[in-house]
Amino acid sequence: MRGARRVLVTGAGGFIGHHLVRALVERGHHVRGVDRKRPEFEPSPAQEFEILDLRRFDDCLLATRGIEHVYALAANMGGIGFIESHKAEIMRDNVLIDTHVLEAARRNGASRYLYTSSACVYPAGRQDRPDVEPLAEEHAYPADPEDGYGWEKLFSERQCRHYFEDYGLETRVVRFHNIFGPLGTYEGGREKSPAAICRKLALAEDGDAIEVWGDGRQTRSYCYVDDCVEGILRLMGSDWREPLNLGQDRMVTVDELVDIVAKIAGKAVHKRHDLSKPQGVRGRNSDNSKLRRVLGWEPQVSLERGLEITYAWIRDQLRARGALERWGSATFERS
Ligand code: NAD
Repeated sequence: MRGARRVLVTGAGGFIGHHLVRALVERGHHVRGVDRKRPEFEPSPAQEFEILDLRRFDDCLLATRGIEHVYALAANMGGIGFIESHKAEIMRDNVLIDTHVLEAARRNGASRYLYTSSACVYPAGRQDRPDVEPLAEEHAYPADPEDGYGWEKLFSERQCRHYFEDYGLETRVVRFHNIFGPLGTYEGGREKSPAAICRKLALAEDGDAIEVWGDGRQTRSYCYVDDCVEGILRLMGSDWREPLNLGQDRMVTVDELVDIVAKIAGKAVHKRHDLSKPQGVRGRNSDNSKLRRVLGWEPQVSLERGLEITYAWIRDQLRARGALERWGSATFERS
């Protein structure tokens, strides 16, 4: 096939990496997926899948051998509860993964490299109110990113820039804003808010109270995973070397997110706000002006449609495991 390449996806056993592998294979590329684990919910469609520890440089050299394009998605990460309580581990693991994969890609002669950064690079001071101004790419400096996870992302973004300047390796940097969808972690402590809320609603019965972290008035924008994959592929094919936001620019409160999922689930629930739980920044939204200009495109899937698909998938997962019957009434307070 014309334009077919040998590509590497790191983090191919994870949520976005798995979806990306499928899209790359469908487009005719030869994909090597690498991760510490295989995808949890279905087999990887990658032509090659290798279990490697990308904190180790020798494993990174193996991962990148014979590869033209690298999509770097491997990271030790999770939802707000995880990243706020594992800062040392996250910074140590991710700085090792990111520096080693990038250097190994260069040594093995890769021509293009896409790094997956995060909205967590933006300064706390710009996210201190629910009705915040959307975050534009240039707002990342002067830097005051999320402590731990965000600082490492910012460091690795700059490392990508210097690998282009010093070595000519074409690097692309994408800043994701809350990606969600099916085939993602929905329990265990690393899940993000959309998946956690879908799980709680799937397990709830009419009239139950469900726990919401924080006061529910914190705001976010959420982007469906198919749009995320489309944006990644478009950015990799572009000549844009600066960091680029990839997310939706419709901001909702976490309470509104709960209401949307409750409507999809067809359940009337009460919210029980737990102020002792971490809630992250107070408000966050993506400014998509540059995204539209650079890629001539923006995410298409509505929040409601994305949540419908995600809720149905999580509900079916729980059903298949018999969890709805087992845990349904025990997990929630009746009010
Ligand atoms: P994920 O946790 O599902 O996937 C990351 C994968 O990296 C996991 O499968 C994990 O096993 C793997 N990994 C971790 N340490 C490794 C190691 N030492 N060696 C090999 N593999 C290792 O996360 P995701 O949501 O798919 O995120 C993908 C990328 O996008 C990450 O870099 C993440 O920081 C970034 N990101 C995601 C979001 C989001 O909303 N999901 C937001 C901002 C940024």
